[in-house]
Amino acid sequence: MIHQTPHAQGKVFLVGAGPGDPELLTLKAHRLLKQADLILHDDLVSSGVIALAGPRAIVVNVGKRCGIKKITQSEINALMVDAAREGKRVVRLKSGDPGVFGRLNEELAALHAAKIVSEVVPGVTAANAAAASVGVSLTDRDKSSRVVFVSGHQAGTKGAPNEPDWTSLAQSNSTIAVYMPGNGLRHLSRKLIAAGLAPETSAVVVAQASKPQQKQFWATVGTLSDLDSSASPSIVLIGRALDLAASRALLENLSGAELLDAFSNLQNARRIAS
Ligand code: SAH
Repeated sequence: MIHQTPHAQGKVFLVGAGPGDPELLTLKAHRLLKQADLILHDDLVSSGVIALAGPRAIVVNVGKRCGIKKITQSEINALMVDAAREGKRVVRLKSGDPGVFGRLNEELAALHAAKIVSEVVPGVTAANAAAASVGVSLTDRDKSSRVVFVSGHQAGTKGAPNEPDWTSLAQSNSTIAVYMPGNGLRHLSRKLIAAGLAPETSAVVVAQASKPQQKQFWATVGTLSDLDSSASPSIVLIGRALDLAASRALLENLSGAELLDAFSNLQNARRIAS
């Protein structure tokens, strides 16, 4: 029986590139980018991260929007397998954390089936980056004991087979992070309210988290549908753990006159209450 010489083979590292800011890369990811022979990256990986590739690396965008021909998952798998068989160090670079909505299991299965050695290197996922950049905690000792990452990818698509079970997700003690919300904010708002979540629950849409172009739009579950959801990539965070930051943002956005109004309303309310 003929055995393959294992050391002739390369290795595939499935690496998290984080949300955009290159300083949020792990040291390990940074080192692997410097040492790679081939880097296969997704569309969402920022140019600042790609710029850290070592001089000998061949860098290929295998993102789904990468050019004339749409590259398929099996083509990406074949690129990784072939390069590793040629003895190359391959970095499969994915935005955020490779194991969050990144089709990581499919790639691991293909590598495993081809007997290619692989290693996963985690990264900062968009929910963590968005929470940090608007100054909120995803959990809260009093308000949120559960964090849910859900894909809104098909939210609002008629007859979508993978519509999340919003009733089980929409709990008042949870923080919900909706990845890939697309144009589904109206649908999301309706589904969450129908599932029993209070319309006044705090929500924020964070676009381009951690990048210089970052934008955040505060709302409540009830007013989410009024937001312009065209900024991309964006993520929606929802839950009572956001309350304090939401009121701070509201105060910062009020004009002087509105602030005086709010203050006198508060005084009136106090007078009536006493
Ligand atoms: N593996 C990635 C998620 C890939 S799915 C991660 O862990 O973050 C792609 C979705 O991630 C986007 O549609 C968006 O919802 C979210 N996303 C990725 N980068 C983002 C960023 N910088 N700011 C806001 N959302 C982001």
